[in-house]
Amino acid sequence: MAIKLDINPIKAWLPGKTDPLLVSGPCSLETEEQVLETARLLAKDHRVHVFRGGVWKPRTRPGSFEGVGSVGLKWLQMVKEETGLLVGTEVANTQHTEEALKAGVDVLWIGARSTASPFVVQEIADVIKGTDSIVMIKNPVNPDAQLWMGAVERVYRAGIKNIVGIHRGFTPFRETKYRNYPNWKTFIELRRLLPNLPVICDPSHIAGKREYLFEIAQKAFDMGMDGLMLESHRDPSVALSDAAQQLTPANLAKLLDNLVIRYENASNPDFENQLEVLRNRIDSIDSEILELLASRVDIVKEIGKYKRENNVTALQMNRWSQLMENRVKTGKSMDLNETFIKILFQLIHEDSVRMQTEILDNE
Ligand code: PEP
Ligand code: MN
Repeated sequence: MAIKLDINPIKAWLPGKTDPLLVSGPCSLETEEQVLETARLLAKDHRVHVFRGGVWKPRTRPGSFEGVGSVGLKWLQMVKEETGLLVGTEVANTQHTEEALKAGVDVLWIGARSTASPFVVQEIADVIKGTDSIVMIKNPVNPDAQLWMGAVERVYRAGIKNIVGIHRGFTPFRETKYRNYPNWKTFIELRRLLPNLPVICDPSHIAGKREYLFEIAQKAFDMGMDGLMLESHRDPSVALSDAAQQLTPANLAKLLDNLVIRYENASNPDFENQLEVLRNRIDSIDSEILELLASRVDIVKEIGKYKRENNVTALQMNRWSQLMENRVKTGKSMDLNETFIKILFQLIHEDSVRMQTEILDNE
């Protein structure tokens, strides 16, 4: 069920902001020079609002660079003082959160691995309680809108109203060109559940590679998202983490120049724009339907081969009537038109039988 939490719009904590929220900075803070040089370059581009940088890094396997630790907080303070940008880092336990708050870090974000664990989220929420922090919550690594929503609620119940969701993609369940599967429908579901939660997109962790950043960033605006988190580094080739997906500040500026920014909220009640956002959502749902159909075809073919080996017919009436009955029932429970579901599954089934017959004939 959709719920209306009294979450602040971004402009409540960024007064005067009219354009989408932009968070940028290195994956990891590495040295004082790297941090300050990157931040200075980013601050010159007045489109960046928040400087990001990982101090404690959650790495999939031990042994890789795990962040500089607390010393990085001092560098964030320097960035804040010198550039006036808001600064943000990831916190994953009580100690991180206490230290970051003490250092005056404005934005605390909860990483994808942490959002997947309600205990961790609660631990962080308990420490942030009563502060005026800005808390950004990445989606959990699995595409579960309820779990994502639950993390938002835990933080909200700790009295925090400056909350932003970050869509960073999901652990892929099959081969994709991206590092993390975008599964836009999970974002659409979160938006349905929490309509007034601002949500930004993190194309860096979805893409995994620089070459895909633009298409994902554009898609995020097409879907009506409220901003972007993009990793940038003064020299990505020597970055200690996520080197392949980071941009130099100059290339970040180029990417931003080419993006078409679309607005969905009521302050821009422009009909064509609204329609475009909705149509883009339809396009992306349709492409997911097609992907699912392709996965179904793979299985149908596998079954065809299995039937051939066992001399079984392509058409099995029992299975077919059961399937139809079940699909119509499920469709009805989702308010889908009965005739439409019947025709749709008749077509799907006919084509499956056609494919299996071809396989049987190819003995
Ligand atoms: C990051 O932002 O650098 C990071 C580790 O992200 P995620 O939690 O999305 O993997
Ligand atoms: Mn990273």
